[in-house]
Amino acid sequence: MSNQTLTMIKPDAMKKGYSGGILDMITKGGFRIVALKQTKLTPEKAGEFYEVHKERPFYGELIEYMSSGPIIAAILEKENAVTDFRKLIGATNPANAEEGTIRKQYATSVAENAVHGSDSDDNAKIESDFFFSALERF
Ligand code: ADP
Ligand code: MG
Repeated sequence: MSNQTLTMIKPDAMKKGYSGGILDMITKGGFRIVALKQTKLTPEKAGEFYEVHKERPFYGELIEYMSSGPIIAAILEKENAVTDFRKLIGATNPANAEEGTIRKQYATSVAENAVHGSDSDDNAKIESDFFFSALERF
């Protein structure tokens, strides 16, 4: 699984019409789309996805934001997918994101930061299984 990662285009970027530009940066960055869907998280599902952050002060705000509108979820494939995708998206806080990263170009704030990227191979698998069945992967 070390060649796959899970991304979401978050509600702020969807609302602003950035999904096409973000998918373009992803494919130009050398990632192949294995699976892709547009969906909307309920607060319960968003809470489940971000369970690891439940003790963080921003958890409530994060759940509210992530369930506020549709998202696009996708499994991406590339050698060293997790590490390379974290490089492509840039720092959590877009104020610290490098030039040429997705968050530098499209994020609004540290909370509304346009995209998600898995932080480990283990979480890439857990998060991919959260959104996609085997029949949805090609
Ligand atoms: P990343 O998405 O870069 O892996 P984290 O896993 O630390 O970042 O946080 C998960 C998500 O929670 C972030 O992408 C962002 O949407 C939100 N978040 C992180 N830090 C803050 C913060 N200080 N205030 C508000 N929201 C935050
Ligand atoms: Mg994270």
